[in-house]
Amino acid sequence: MADVASPTDLFIGGTWRPAISGERFDVHDPGTEQVIASVANAGADDARAAAQAAADAQPGWAALAPRQRAEVLRRSWELLTERADDLARLITLENGKVLAEAKGEITYAAEFFRWFSEEAVRLRGELMTAPGGANKILVLHQPVGVAYLVTPWNFPAAMATRKIAPALAAGCAVVLKPATLTPLTALAVADVLHEAGVPGGVVNVVPGNSARTITSAVLDHERVRKLSFTGSTEVGRLLIEQAAGRVLNVSMELGGNAPFIVLADADLDAAVEGAMIAKMRHNGETCTAANRFYVEAPVAEEFAARLAAAMGALPTGHGLEPGSRLGPLVDAETRDKVAELVDSAVAAGATAVVGGAATVGTGHYYPATVLTGVAADNPILGEEIFGPVAPIVAVADADEAVRLANGTTMGLVSYLYTRDLAKGLRVAEALESGMVGLNKGIVSDPAAPFGGVKESGIGREGGHEGMLDYTETKYIATDW
Ligand code: NAP
Repeated sequence: MADVASPTDLFIGGTWRPAISGERFDVHDPGTEQVIASVANAGADDARAAAQAAADAQPGWAALAPRQRAEVLRRSWELLTERADDLARLITLENGKVLAEAKGEITYAAEFFRWFSEEAVRLRGELMTAPGGANKILVLHQPVGVAYLVTPWNFPAAMATRKIAPALAAGCAVVLKPATLTPLTALAVADVLHEAGVPGGVVNVVPGNSARTITSAVLDHERVRKLSFTGSTEVGRLLIEQAAGRVLNVSMELGGNAPFIVLADADLDAAVEGAMIAKMRHNGETCTAANRFYVEAPVAEEFAARLAAAMGALPTGHGLEPGSRLGPLVDAETRDKVAELVDSAVAAGATAVVGGAATVGTGHYYPATVLTGVAADNPILGEEIFGPVAPIVAVADADEAVRLANGTTMGLVSYLYTRDLAKGLRVAEALESGMVGLNKGIVSDPAAPFGGVKESGIGREGGHEGMLDYTETKYIATDW
């Protein structure tokens, strides 16, 4: 087993404890396929205990002065930043992304603590005179109550802090269920919060390999009032149904299928640089990953050649190896799905100008791949690839690009490159997505509202909206 210095037990009520059943499950390094740790496997009783601990802690945490909650979050930002190197190594070991990217994730993750420590003291209400003059309308935002948070494996630190920080800022206690593939980072984040002074029970973490069992036990607890989920649209849909039983407040950060549009007047150097970030960040395993490239015909060939050169030059290897820029995908299933998508895209007429064949050997590697000659109805354009594959479609003009970009049930983020800012803003307005990168290959920022439209989600994380997602609005009619 690799030397992993991280808690591996459940974190419930401010203490570390094994699962009641005594069961544990293994965590693997996707680069070596070796077991790196064995983690306590929460069952229904553990999940209920976590929900109860959160329910017990909720009133005290909500009653603290906003400044006190803010200071705990601020301290969490400091501690996570101090431990960045250790946590980044942990992310690389359990998730596969290369160390530089894992460090970037820790900075991003920590920033949610800092941003929401600043937001915690700025939860504003509203006061107005009713139009008829009969009374005053006073509006407050109160904590929604105990929140259940479910996170994916692709950003094991940031997806957790993007939920925990606003929940704590608003005055909510939480139960977090991290992804089974990557529980270690979430437990390390819990350790940071504990040391930063979060009272026992305010944050509880229950990893376990039966997501359904844990989720049913927590969602059935009468004091749980909120479900915040990040993951696939497929599972999000199931959870919305489950939350309907108790009419829970839900936030959903779901799958994407981001179009990356390059107009003929774009700065191609900037477009390739942006495409490298939008496509290759974390091996292409991001919800915001550029999934379909629509490039105006006059520059399509040139753009494809430059992108293929840049992607093909990325050194592939274990994320801890210095110089690696493309690490292994998270597991064999993910790698096999990418390989199948590429094979069927090629069978449907596309050409792999770089990459295109799965790597043989230890570790779940897939090479950087650029597909050209992709027809607008090629099935790969309708799927979230979640790997280092860039299918490029040549389009006649911006109108065709927008029509194709919007022709999907997803709507998380879109990217657009043009030198004409007015045209860029018009196109950005027409794109059906919650976020647009206009001459930018990355949109994620704790200070900005992150989220999708259509089947990509409900609600926003980060920005001012992030904390409001953990509140209920109360209106008081009064006069004086
Ligand atoms: P996933 O399979 O939907 O899993 C996400 C989480 O849900 C995991 O903790 C998983 O637990 C849990 N889960 C799975 N089935 C469940 C069930 N029936 N009931 C309750 N919980 C269940 O997604 P993933 O493969 O981890 O992540 C990739 C997906 O997340 C992609 O679609 C990506 O676009 C999306 N994503 C979206 C955003 C965003 O902000 N919009 C950000 C990151 C990722 P187990 O690990 O135990 O299965």
